[in-house]
Amino acid sequence: MKDFGLNIYRPTRPGQQWARLTALGSYREVGRACHYITTNESRVMVDVGVNIASDTDPMPYFTAPEALPIEKLDAVVLTHSHLDHAGMLPVLFKYGYKGPVYCTPPTRDLMLLLQTDYLKVSGAEGKRCPYDMEDIRTCMKHVVDVNWGETTQITPDIKLTFSNAGHILGSSAVHLQIGDGKHNIVLSGDQKYEKSWLFDAANTKFPRVETLVLESTYGASGDYQPSRQEANQELQDIVSRTLRRGGKIICPVFAVGRSQEVMIAIDELFRSGAVKPVPVWLDGMIQEATAIHASHPDYLTSSLRKSLLQDDGENPFTSAWFRPVKGRELRDSIIHDSSPCIVLATSGMMSGGPVMEYFKHWAHEERNSLCFVGYQAEGTLGRRLQKGFGEVPMVMNGKTEIVKVGCEMLTIDGFSGHSDRRQLLEFVDQINPKPQNIICHHGDYFKCNELGRTLRDRYKCRTYAPKNLETVRLM
Ligand SMILES: [Zn+2]
Ligand SMILES: [Zn+2]
Repeated sequence: MKDFGLNIYRPTRPGQQWARLTALGSYREVGRACHYITTNESRVMVDVGVNIASDTDPMPYFTAPEALPIEKLDAVVLTHSHLDHAGMLPVLFKYGYKGPVYCTPPTRDLMLLLQTDYLKVSGAEGKRCPYDMEDIRTCMKHVVDVNWGETTQITPDIKLTFSNAGHILGSSAVHLQIGDGKHNIVLSGDQKYEKSWLFDAANTKFPRVETLVLESTYGASGDYQPSRQEANQELQDIVSRTLRRGGKIICPVFAVGRSQEVMIAIDELFRSGAVKPVPVWLDGMIQEATAIHASHPDYLTSSLRKSLLQDDGENPFTSAWFRPVKGRELRDSIIHDSSPCIVLATSGMMSGGPVMEYFKHWAHEERNSLCFVGYQAEGTLGRRLQKGFGEVPMVMNGKTEIVKVGCEMLTIDGFSGHSDRRQLLEFVDQINPKPQNIICHHGDYFKCNELGRTLRDRYKCRTYAPKNLETVRLM
């Protein structure tokens, strides 16, 4: 800690001030988010993600000359805990980084859960994880947690302020004030500019922004999602329909974000009497992630915070219908029980995890339903099912089996934690004064480019969709 302090308040160098941003990952792609900011005084890395879709190339470009040697890095800042933003952080410590990691308290807690799980899952699938539990522990010791709205000096010439990004618990936009406010850069992280059951819409009030780095996941024309209200209606319809015919509902979910959102929506359906309650089984890390949500009420919407704190039976996370699945025995008995129920299970893209067991046993029956609530990446089983494959091969216990798909299938897009195109444009519209530069990333080239073009036409600003390893000069 003392060393961090001495480093931050070291004497500054004379001469001209400058700043630039180098793209080390997530540029023209989704995955391995990593931004490297260099100034005449300091070096800061924002996000250190994994590329989940690639077994051969999972890391950001740590070998770029700017990033070396790693000990010269002054600070790491994280937007949120998802693996594509924080999953490679322990690698920095393995390679000799000894400095601070700035993030919000919920990001710290969720990151530990997700990195540990990544290590476990890699091991179970026979892949080599580039770090071990010891590296995760070292990394945790270097975390400095910072709440939304608190401004912190992180290097001699950079001040950091986090604010709500609306995406998952603790997710933040990173505002960096460089050189006494000469240049201000906001990195939006993954963000949602719509109020959800869990979070308020992303913050748009920044004191000043000269450069905005914006996600482009749904940035192309035609990337529109239905509203939360429509999503709830769709969920109600499929739940009622399936239960009426005595079936079961499988919902593949991501442990962090979507599962809590869907839990609250189901809770609402049962409480309001719209649907008669049935058991809702939670399988695979959802319980742990939900407990972390409940322990950070300040990072949730005010109404959810109230119901969590009052403890008057209104806490949606502890309703009697939610039941954790602990152990294989219970899972087997649920699978072979014929009564209707709902299962929320990981992984969200059906690339492994307990959801596979339920699917394997229930997919052939017409009365059952498979309900997707999150993004299904190309190449995953989830995406193949969405495309309507009637039979799918599944590797179970080392053997490949063909599973026939007879159940109803539905994708509900409105629970997304990312802004759609309309929300991205509205978000920029609310920022005042407008940024002079907008850098688009976290989307393929087509999405980044199309979003950038629209923003350039509208606001007469400079827009960029750099490639990984390219550098943009900020001042
Ligand atoms: Zn994310
Ligand atoms: Zn992301």
